[in-house]
Amino acid sequence: SPTILWFRQDLRLHDQPALLAAAEAGPVIPVYILDDETPGDWRMGAAQRWWLHHSLTSLAKDLKELDSRLILRRGKAVETLRALMEETGATEIHAIRHYEPWWRKAEEALDDCLRIHDGNHLARPELVTTGSGKPFRIYSAFWKGLQGHLPPEHPCDRPERLEGPGHWPTSDTLADWSLLPTKPDWSTGFDEDWIPGEATARERMADFGEKAVAYDTARNMPSEEGSSRLSPHLHFGEVSVRAVWHSLARRGDTETFRKELAWRDFTDGVVMALPDYADHNGRDAFDTMPWRSGAEADKDLKAWQTGRTGYPIVDAGMRQLWTTGWMHNRVRMITASFLIKHLLIDWREGERWFWDCLVDADYGNNAVNWQWVAGTGIDSNMFGRIMAPLSQSEKFDAGDYIRQWVPELKHVSNAAIHDPEEAGCRPKDYPAKIIGHREGRERALAAAKKMRG
Ligand code: FAD
Repeated sequence: SPTILWFRQDLRLHDQPALLAAAEAGPVIPVYILDDETPGDWRMGAAQRWWLHHSLTSLAKDLKELDSRLILRRGKAVETLRALMEETGATEIHAIRHYEPWWRKAEEALDDCLRIHDGNHLARPELVTTGSGKPFRIYSAFWKGLQGHLPPEHPCDRPERLEGPGHWPTSDTLADWSLLPTKPDWSTGFDEDWIPGEATARERMADFGEKAVAYDTARNMPSEEGSSRLSPHLHFGEVSVRAVWHSLARRGDTETFRKELAWRDFTDGVVMALPDYADHNGRDAFDTMPWRSGAEADKDLKAWQTGRTGYPIVDAGMRQLWTTGWMHNRVRMITASFLIKHLLIDWREGERWFWDCLVDADYGNNAVNWQWVAGTGIDSNMFGRIMAPLSQSEKFDAGDYIRQWVPELKHVSNAAIHDPEEAGCRPKDYPAKIIGHREGRERALAAAKKMRG
């Protein structure tokens, strides 16, 4: 009887242990299920639907080269898989393990027929634990713990051919799923920046090898392309993190980059221990934080989302996000801090917005990073550490980046670009600051004091 290969966030053929195991077992039926029900409120956001459409197109093409096919189905994953087993006579499903809480529940529900494989991490999060067997709560301790569990072997290649069943089950078409935006089509900037799929992911990984040594300093400069931009490829599993790790062998000192890569593993360890981390403060004290709400706060949230706060670095980041589905890491920190502290708006509002807008939106990475910036998390900055957006912009030389994303400021000089209002040259079509830096800072600190009672 055939075996089902269940693809989720592992849309690749190289270093795909579930695929290899399924192939060994006999004829394989590769399937992807669009499941908007099981994740509940955390169903895939709009930007990732765009990505998914293109990534599945690419995967189907790659499978064809192996004489195979990609079967598309829509519905609750567990029920859809059981129905497909019944229909095809398959008795086993092979898949790679994932740590989103809804996937863990689905995996449990399929326990009798699911053969689960590790393939989405450097080391399985259950293995990297404290002396008492608990997941690490502090990243630096996690990094040390990880050293004993690094992926030893070289990642495996893709098979030459995949045997199919005698009779293929029916499949939806991608067009049936309407994953791409229509009116308005906001995705033209996405088309310019990204080509989803395994082939491009592998190319990006190879190209980055050259730049990895300079990453240490270049990654912080928004005007440069100093980071790998592998995040959406890694989220969708178009390239394995082990392959990226091994691609750096003999590249000189790449520890800073490796440490960032390992954050992915760390965040899955956190959500493994605290599955609803995306919805709840890691520190209970913040449950009484007097976040702003109401019409004024809504107006400020909208200004943040649309890049109209009057802070050029914040506005550039938010517009980059909207236009391309991605934002530079340092600018993610600045924009997140601005929302939470200067605007005193609950971090979950920002987390939600990122979830819908990011092509790399990831349950663990997004929640852990938002809580880290907010100071509400288990491994965090203190809330009182408030980033100063204007001096950050200057320090990391964000002038060209601002000019690229905020055309109203295209003609503002280097000296004035970080704070044109203060320099007296704010163009008429660019908004005044929605709150002063000092005023925002003081309001945030007063709120934190109130929270502590
Ligand atoms: P590189 O610097 O080249 O790093 C390589 C890879 O390491 C990344 O692709 C990513 O997989 C991983 N990585 C790097 N930094 C981090 C980090 N801080 N936490 C977790 N993994 C990391 N990253 C996401 O993948 N998805 C998210 O939803 C997400 N939301 C974020 C929200 C906020 C508020 C902040 C501050 C950061 C968030 N990040 C998220 C982390 C980080 O910004 C992105 O991973 C990074 O900018 C992606 O660009 P890159 O691939 O060029 O990264």
